[in-house]
Amino acid sequence: MQLSKLEIKGFKSFGDKVVINFDEGITGIVGPNGCGKSNIVDAIRWVLGEQKTKALRSEKMENIIFNGTKTRKALQMAEVSLTFNNNRKLLPTEYSQVTITRKYYRSGESEYLLNNVTCRLKDITNLFLDTGIVSDSYAIIELKMVDDILNDKDNSRRGLFEEAAGISKFKVRKKETLRKLEETDTDLARVEDLLHEIS
Ligand code: ATP
Repeated sequence: MQLSKLEIKGFKSFGDKVVINFDEGITGIVGPNGCGKSNIVDAIRWVLGEQKTKALRSEKMENIIFNGTKTRKALQMAEVSLTFNNNRKLLPTEYSQVTITRKYYRSGESEYLLNNVTCRLKDITNLFLDTGIVSDSYAIIELKMVDDILNDKDNSRRGLFEEAAGISKFKVRKKETLRKLEETDTDLARVEDLLHEIS
């Protein structure tokens, strides 16, 4: 599966729309300090659903919207789209091209789209589970992560192998099911209390 295109508009330093096409092979992004290289990685992390502002090097989510410059007004919305070539059908969908989009407004509203159709963040994360392409997976490796993996901080090495082996989706589903079971237990206890009161 190949990352084929990144479109950024209104995200961090990108006031104008920027389109980056990734050809086959390695793409290197170079530029002077502070020109926005890391913001590109942040944009990829963000569109994949990152919710932790710290991981985006930001204090609060609103700060990811273009704040303006001396000569330009701040924008009201940030939008990032990431397109994958899915010819080999590694993503479980019939589409040969998959574009995920995330929008965020200053009002605090968020929108997620899958091939231009509004969806939930969960639909996106489910689609990418076990591909290794999630906001905090080994698809994006920063220097700090290399240290954590080498030191096996918080069992990070095991997590990496679980993701690669394709078992993390079952762990997520198990967690969800256990939560639902707990809720059902609470409901049952409530019903029993009510029955006790009635009889
Ligand atoms: P370095 O090589 O030093 O690591 P870099 O090329 O990775 O730098 P980034 O960290 O990606 O640079 O970009 C930093 C720039 O992004 C700063 O100039 C900062 O002012 C700008 N920036 C960050 N958030 C916003 C925002 N919301 N609106 C406008 N500009 C922003």
